[in-house]
Amino acid sequence: MEVNKKTGKRKKITTVALLALIVCLIVSSMFFFHLDRRLPGGTAIFYSPHPDDEVLSMGSGLLEALDRNEQVIMVLLSQGKASKAIDQVNERLLQEGYPPINAEEFGAARAKEFRESALQLGVKEENIYLYDLPDGSLNTEEIKEIMTSFAARYPEAVHHTMTYKDPHRDHAAAGKALQELKKAGIIRHTVYYIPVQEWENLKSLFNHVTKTPPSKLAGHQKALAAYKSWYPAGGRYAIGITSVPEYFEIIEGAYQSVWSKR
Ligand SMILES: [Zn+2]
Repeated sequence: MEVNKKTGKRKKITTVALLALIVCLIVSSMFFFHLDRRLPGGTAIFYSPHPDDEVLSMGSGLLEALDRNEQVIMVLLSQGKASKAIDQVNERLLQEGYPPINAEEFGAARAKEFRESALQLGVKEENIYLYDLPDGSLNTEEIKEIMTSFAARYPEAVHHTMTYKDPHRDHAAAGKALQELKKAGIIRHTVYYIPVQEWENLKSLFNHVTKTPPSKLAGHQKALAAYKSWYPAGGRYAIGITSVPEYFEIIEGAYQSVWSKR
């Protein structure tokens, strides 16, 4: 009798311990998935509608991902040939005795600024992808195709881009593409960024602020500098800073990204 009682007790204890273990596992997995953006060693893919969005609005988020040792993939959607900054660049070139550049050369120079920014941020050369969708009329379906191909290659990746609430239609198209892919179940993890100039206007909709990690600040500054280099003989035309000087001022006063998961 005595022995049987003890065995019964032991059985009970084992059952309780098993139940506790199961509850622990469920709770920890919920926690794990809740913090999906913070998975160490995961992959983070950043889609930049134009050159400079990656360093102005998404830079701190990207640097935080690198700081967590995530693999970071950077995708440029459009070279940004429609920017009116080409007129200012050509004016300055003429003043300094250089011939003007055409839209193709302008686009190539912008892509060059993007590539250098990516490298300065700390992204590996082989993880930089350049597309040239038509600037000013980015098409949600075309962006979805690009995102779907990356989702297939990196099934558990977190996908980052500008928000579908962005007043700039190209940025909104990128956000909308990601939103639709999430709804369709093709992409699971999403992060949407608010552009620097809308931090005040759209503040209530965005609940996360990520600061540039201190150890990555120098990289952030060097990446911004990639958009300020004027060296016409080497095809460098300081296009980013010429195009949106006020945005550079905002980020250099804050070094942060403001984002939301949905
Ligand atoms: Zn942009």
